[in-house]
Amino acid sequence: MRGDLRWAWAEIDLDAVRHNIRTIRERVAPSAVWAVVKANGYGHGSVDVARAAIEAGAEGLCVALVQEGIDLRRAGVDAPILLLSEQPPELASAIIEYRLTPSVYRREFLEALAREAPSGLPVHLLVDTGMQRVGTHPHAAASMAAAIAQRAPAVRLAGVFTHLAVADDPSPASVEFTDRQLSKFAKVLEQLPPVPLVHIANSAGALAHPAARQSMVRVGIAMYGIAPSDALDDLCSDLRPAMELRSRVSFVKQVRSGSAISYGLKHTFSRDTTVATVPLGYADGVPRRLSEVGGEVLIAGRRCPIVGVVTMDQLMVDCGDHDVRVGDDVTLIGEQGGETIRAEDWARRLGTIGYEIVCGISERIPRVPRRSIDN
Ligand SMILES: *Cc1c(COP(=O)(O)O)cnc(C)c1O
Repeated sequence: MRGDLRWAWAEIDLDAVRHNIRTIRERVAPSAVWAVVKANGYGHGSVDVARAAIEAGAEGLCVALVQEGIDLRRAGVDAPILLLSEQPPELASAIIEYRLTPSVYRREFLEALAREAPSGLPVHLLVDTGMQRVGTHPHAAASMAAAIAQRAPAVRLAGVFTHLAVADDPSPASVEFTDRQLSKFAKVLEQLPPVPLVHIANSAGALAHPAARQSMVRVGIAMYGIAPSDALDDLCSDLRPAMELRSRVSFVKQVRSGSAISYGLKHTFSRDTTVATVPLGYADGVPRRLSEVGGEVLIAGRRCPIVGVVTMDQLMVDCGDHDVRVGDDVTLIGEQGGETIRAEDWARRLGTIGYEIVCGISERIPRVPRRSIDN
């Protein structure tokens, strides 16, 4: 029985995660792979994904928040855990207690860490080479590294890294921008003492820019079997999606041509048809707009359009003249009877990226393990 508490659940294929990590490791060798499991493992369940990634040879983990690192430690995960951005200075003692590896780029945060660290706290210096989100300016990187050295033995510079802004876009202008980021970063490295870990690439960088691989890569989305962008789809053809979003038909009825459905009565039927209700909605992460942009689900291996606006807890689909019954399997994301709907398909329709789709599957959806048949 899948999803014991409701007729909607996400099946997480940890074999797919392992396969993806192994595949990416082969691709980027000799660079190491660190698995990015922030945001509850992009909605897949951070602890299970982290364990699977480590089993498949990932050498470390990356998270966004201290709490995400603490959750992994409390679950017994022992691998190195890198915090991808600075955190509130008052969390310095928690960072140390839970053996998290902080990123640093401001003196104040470095001082807060150094005050708390007994000795040898590894830190990674984040240099902003063009993303303009967070990080030390390239001109200030050498002095920031010197400040870290001054706070020895409390802290030590274990890594230096940057983040790419347009690695997922193969257009000439973007490739040129990425090259400029790489050369700015190379100049920074020339001014620093040798640093054990040097890293640049996210998934897109790791897949599409071999020069960005360095000593390790930080791989998130590709590990979940989702392409960073449509343009990089081909580079992901050997990866397997790790999440399926499934449900069961909760109600079936016949509707009349000319009648309308759901809030606002925005969809009018142009023929008599069979409508199935599926018990999940926007509070579960199915965007309200998905019907408007041509969203579909799979029932009995056939594509059925979502009709009417998606409501908070339920949505309706037009099943035409198929014989549909309460309890029938519904696949919202995944494969059924040879048909497939991917997170990227939702993303394309909605004008967003696969990341936002899987991260948006809410906590209300139980995550259940799935065993894939082929491995
Ligand atoms: C989230 C994040 C990543 C992972 O990016 P993907 O595109 O999912 O591989 C890597 N590095 C940093 C700094 C991030 O914030």
